[in-house]
Amino acid sequence: MKKTIELIVPCYNEENCIQAFYNSVREVFKKLYKYDFIITFVDDGSKDNTLNIIKEVAGTATKGRVQYIALSRNFGKESAIYAGLSKSRGDYVALMDADLQHPPELIIKMLDAIENEGYDRATARRISRTGEPMIRSLFSRAFYHIINHVTVIDLVPGSTDYCLMKRNVVEAILSVTERERFTKGIYAWVGYKNKWIEYENVERVAGKTKWNFMGLFRYAYSGFIAFATTPLRGVVYLGLLITIAAFIYAANIWISTMQNPYAPRNGYASIMIIMLFLGGVIITTLGMIGEYLARIYMEVKNRPIYFERESNIIKEKKDLCTEDEKLKR
Ligand code: UDP
Ligand code: MG
Repeated sequence: MKKTIELIVPCYNEENCIQAFYNSVREVFKKLYKYDFIITFVDDGSKDNTLNIIKEVAGTATKGRVQYIALSRNFGKESAIYAGLSKSRGDYVALMDADLQHPPELIIKMLDAIENEGYDRATARRISRTGEPMIRSLFSRAFYHIINHVTVIDLVPGSTDYCLMKRNVVEAILSVTERERFTKGIYAWVGYKNKWIEYENVERVAGKTKWNFMGLFRYAYSGFIAFATTPLRGVVYLGLLITIAAFIYAANIWISTMQNPYAPRNGYASIMIIMLFLGGVIITTLGMIGEYLARIYMEVKNRPIYFERESNIIKEKKDLCTEDEKLKR
């Protein structure tokens, strides 16, 4: 039986991309005729015609080749990826965006790395950021710098979610069941031998990005909280530092009182400054602890990561490449 490569494609309002995506993938798999391929579109609660177009494409393709899972609402890309992975059966599984910003032909190099060079997964890495606003690139660089310094994970700048992995890596990722999913961090955390496949940035084929600056900031922030506990330790150090500063200040007052007991002192101003400073420190620290507490709260609720509204996935695995399909190629 042929090995199957399954592509998991999260889609949110991508009605103008689906057909182009399918056509490009089909072209690539003409070269990879020794493999079967399945595309699993995960419709992440799209408000446009995405699901109907996926169904149309599924209707024209070989039976079972184009699968879909429609989620009950928009859960976000990370949950959509989890939904796709948890339903996947392919021997190799790839994660790809629907907008063709992840060039499908890279699959060939990725497959080569896994099959011939002994890697467990291959991940695409953008080496240019053309077409991206300056502020986004700057922010992104700063994010990688900070997260790599304060967490156990090592994220590579320009790394994307686009990857091809062996079944065991998929199982490892699925075993990480946290709700607030920062996929890039989870990939890095599970480990395994990864090969970086570099490529030049590509612009979307149609539609527009779902990310604005604030959205990206929230994503980065939540990724940071998910993997770093350093801020909590930082709070302890800050507390110690303030205590030491208080002792030095007390010693300073004591010495100057000894030297001149009648020296005029502005007691009101210094007390106000210290009170405001400490008030600020205490509230910030509580807020920081609150962030982690909120995470614990969300995680202990143990809510499902997604709900499926409908799907056309058939359970049994079979060779999809029928004789007439071979002729069509
Ligand atoms: N996406 C999703 N759910 C969301 C937002 C995005 O499934 O809530 C999908 C989207 O359809 C696309 C991929 O995630 O296939 C990447 O999104 P986008 O192209 O907007 O991000 P960018 O490439 O600009 O980082
Ligand atoms: Mg995109």
